Amino acid sequence: MRRTMKAMLGLAAATAVQLAAAQTVQQSTQHTAQQPVQQLSPVEQQIVAAIHANAPQALELLRQSVLINSGTMNHAGVRAVGKLFRDQFDALGFQTRWIELPPEMQRAGHLLAELPNRPASHGKRLMLLGHLDTVFEPGNTTPAWEPQPGPDGSVARIKGQGVSDMKGGDVVILEALRALKQVGALDGSRIAVMLTGDEEEAGNPKTVSRGDMVDLAKRSDVALSFEGSITLKDGMAAATVGRRSTAFFELEVKGRQAHSMGVFGPGGYGAIYEVARILDAFRQQVVEPGLTFNPGVILGGTEVSYDEANSRGSAFGKTNVIANTVTVKGDLRYLDYAQRDRAQARMREIVAQSLPGASAAIAFRDSYPPMAVTPGNLKVLEQYSRASQDAGLGPIGMVPPEARGAGDIQFVAPFIDSLDGLGASGGGAHSPNESLEVASIERSAIRAALLIYRLTRQD
Ligand SMILES: [Zn+2]
Repeated sequence: MRRTMKAMLGLAAATAVQLAAAQTVQQSTQHTAQQPVQQLSPVEQQIVAAIHANAPQALELLRQSVLINSGTMNHAGVRAVGKLFRDQFDALGFQTRWIELPPEMQRAGHLLAELPNRPASHGKRLMLLGHLDTVFEPGNTTPAWEPQPGPDGSVARIKGQGVSDMKGGDVVILEALRALKQVGALDGSRIAVMLTGDEEEAGNPKTVSRGDMVDLAKRSDVALSFEGSITLKDGMAAATVGRRSTAFFELEVKGRQAHSMGVFGPGGYGAIYEVARILDAFRQQVVEPGLTFNPGVILGGTEVSYDEANSRGSAFGKTNVIANTVTVKGDLRYLDYAQRDRAQARMREIVAQSLPGASAAIAFRDSYPPMAVTPGNLKVLEQYSRASQDAGLGPIGMVPPEARGAGDIQFVAPFIDSLDGLGASGGGAHSPNESLEVASIERSAIRAALLIYRLTRQD
């Protein structure tokens, strides 16, 4: 745990959980820094050697996967990337299948690869998560694959579509498992890999599009997700033990329509003053670390309409008329359900304190469940950090939960210990500048392979 806590101290935006934990170990961190690096076992040394030897093939696999466009809505492309990886898992002795989703969902489906059940199986049951799709639909102008030479002329970085989000991570999964296979360390392990085809825009309802993933979680002990590794300000690599929910709120406000000259009179202030009161009270009074809510769009007047599918709307009103209607759409992000419940209760109270002549109603809708920072997640991070240090790759810190958007791991984190950010290291995801540091594929594959090796030998 100490290494984890030491990492936390470097973070500017620590949550209450992090702060409390960090304070208890502040005095011990100096000692921790001097701890000797543990030796890798002979088998672990072979695993590291195999990953180094396979590095050129890993880059070639990444190139092949990136050159196939797999925007979420390009179903043929998503399936083709799935086929590319499926062949690789087949070759490693995994049983593979393509999970189809209902046609009306308009998503390509997912790849599932599992080691066959053996009588003498051992250790933790692992599920590894990646995704096949990218945000880059066909016809976009971002370069697909642009190698960037480093000072010595070798390829140091790759710019391209989905290199870090997250075909690089998918390759890390494969290279970790390939090395384990080559040293005979997969026998008897219980490992399943799910590469989803719609992570960037998950199909609805999510109970269906994420149903197989949740089922898999219920027969697994630990989930490892291979989204990009994050580098903290001080240069330390970091993984994700918590992520906030994605949820939404809708505020409907009504007022009494009348001549504007009476706006401060007994008829009431109208809907626009009322919504101003509500939103400002939210901002000033519903304050907790890790909690945010953002009114993203607001329409007010005497006639408003909002087109949900296209996220746009129109409003009609006159300066000499008191507005009688306002609608607001926003998001709400929280660390755990207790925080959600506190926030929602406080917001409902504020909404109910209506100005004269006005009334309002607020509705909430959950989308991605929160990945709470649990002791179990911190323990997996500690083991990951230990593996990294034992391989001479330095300790792994913790990404603040509020510093990441939503991801697939959140659907399984309520059920099992979970860690995310085990993928390769890059930047500029979802933008024309998306890029990947080539050497990080090897680094992350070594860390992941050692963690998987140790977890599958631990009860
Ligand atoms: Zn993404």
